[in-house]
Amino acid sequence: MENNCIFCKITRKQIGSNILYEDDDFQVILDISPATKGHAILISKKHFDNLFKMDESTAAKLFPVVLKVSKIMKEELNCSGFNLVQNNGKNAGQTVFHFHLHLIPRYENDGIDFRWNTTEYAENEAASIASKIYDKIQ
Ligand code: 5GP
Ligand code: ZN
Repeated sequence: MENNCIFCKITRKQIGSNILYEDDDFQVILDISPATKGHAILISKKHFDNLFKMDESTAAKLFPVVLKVSKIMKEELNCSGFNLVQNNGKNAGQTVFHFHLHLIPRYENDGIDFRWNTTEYAENEAASIASKIYDKIQ
C-alpha cells in the first residue's frame, strides 16, 4: 500500500468502483472517464509504480487474466474491436503511478484514433538498435 495511491485505495475498497473481475492479484474495474462504453482498467493488487517494477510471478499471471476478461467483455459489449493500452512513465502518458492496463472496447465510428505520426531510421540505424537489444537479451 502506497500512501495516497488512488488505485491502492480502490483495490482495498476504501474507494468505490464498478468491479468486473477480481482475484488475489488483480482487479478489473470500469474506468471513471471512459474512452468508450465499457473501457476498463486492470489494476494489480500489489503496488508497482509501473510495469518495470512488477515481479515476475505477478507478471506471469497477468495475461491469462487479460485474455479471460477481454473475451467476456467482447462478447457482452458486442464491440467490433479491442485495444490494450498500458502507459509507463509521464512521457508515455501515465497519470496514475500504480500499474494498470487499459482494456478498451472499440465500436464502429467511435471516434477514437490511436494512430501516431511515423518517423524514419537513418541508414543501418534499425539493424543497430535491433542487434543491441537482441545481444543483451540472449
Ligand atoms: P493512465 O493515464 O495512468 O494510463 O490511466 C489512468 C486512468 O485511471 C485514467 O483513464 C483515469 O480515467 C482512471 N482513473 C483515475 N482515477 C480513477 C478513479 O478514481 N476510479 C476509476 N475507476 N478510474 C480512475
Ligand atoms: Zn498503489
